[in-house]
Amino acid sequence: MATDPRQAAQTRWLSAAQLVGVVRSEPGITRTAAAQRMGIGSGGAAELVARMRHARLLDETRAPAQGRGRPTTVLGPHADGPLVLAADLRATDWRLALAGIDGLPEVVAQAAYAGEELNPALAELADAIGAIYRRKSKRLRAIAVSVAGTVSDAKLVQFTSRGWKNVDLSVLTDAIPDRADVRLLLGNDATLAGLAEARTGAARAATTALYLIVAQGIGGTLVVNGETLTGAHGAAGEYGHIPFGDPTLVCPCGARGCWDLTVDGRALARHRGDEAPDDSVAYVHGLLGKRDGITRRAFEAVAASLGRGAGALVNLHDPEVVTLGGVAAALRGAATDAFDDAYRDALMAFRKDSPPPVRDAEHGEDGPLHGAVTLALDHVTTAAGLADWAGRQRV
Ligand SMILES: [Zn+2]
Repeated sequence: MATDPRQAAQTRWLSAAQLVGVVRSEPGITRTAAAQRMGIGSGGAAELVARMRHARLLDETRAPAQGRGRPTTVLGPHADGPLVLAADLRATDWRLALAGIDGLPEVVAQAAYAGEELNPALAELADAIGAIYRRKSKRLRAIAVSVAGTVSDAKLVQFTSRGWKNVDLSVLTDAIPDRADVRLLLGNDATLAGLAEARTGAARAATTALYLIVAQGIGGTLVVNGETLTGAHGAAGEYGHIPFGDPTLVCPCGARGCWDLTVDGRALARHRGDEAPDDSVAYVHGLLGKRDGITRRAFEAVAASLGRGAGALVNLHDPEVVTLGGVAAALRGAATDAFDDAYRDALMAFRKDSPPPVRDAEHGEDGPLHGAVTLALDHVTTAAGLADWAGRQRV
């Protein structure tokens, strides 16, 4: 029976894709340990690594000797291996980072922007992407962009804090001659930060992980078996617009009682009798040291709302672990008892004895950037992606 040669090539790269997965989850792993993770012998591992070195995917360097065992080697990206670009486009600035197959981002450009128009900032970011492409054209395989807004298909449909709508982000690859050759991928910042926590952060190794992030309002994502649940159009995870909040408050989104309004700096300000802050995150940080009664009660109310909603989402999703990003961790830390009590109270009885742990996120501010690298590398390091790369090395 005739076999599709393309399919046969992909099958040949399945074990390579598995090894790349191991290197990505444990950067700096030795060849011996990687072979153990994959359940293959040392001979098979040596052969596989040799094939991957030949294809300019992985390379190995001798590890410092440990004890009396035979010297081993550490696996890492090949010096001429595939690269991805990751951009984090936020409400007032952007960063662009380059990463190899081990997924460790190195920031190569960044800029702040102001004004009422997004287009000049997008043009500047597109120029930076074009400059990298001209230097690394043969190696650059994918670009992933994290945006602080709602993403649907290839569009930024709602840029949360600036009110911009229906922005076509395909302009970011305008400076790349053959766009089809370098894939552009988009993701919401909270979704990507949650992806990063589940792959290489505080929810590492959990099969089902819930991530919640508070900035202005609250967002998050559910990650199942290492993949985010992003819905039919990539816009799922709008946790802030579930009515876990105060039903007397009307949200700018048009709904009543949104959780968004009771878990952030705006909520703290309302409880303290202050005006709504321009910068919700800075407002939270500015209050963290304050010990007066009204501020303490404000933190307790906000932490309780955060805990109650987290408990409700645990009832819904049954995660192994919940991670908190943005200022969510600080809000919990400022009123731990209020958070814990509300979290437990919201849980169904059978969950109360061993509730999923709630951990602070590990990637912090870099979460969306790490998540964008993950998204881009996922595209490049499938068996089909590696077969495609290996095919290109022969020309
Ligand atoms: Zn809302």
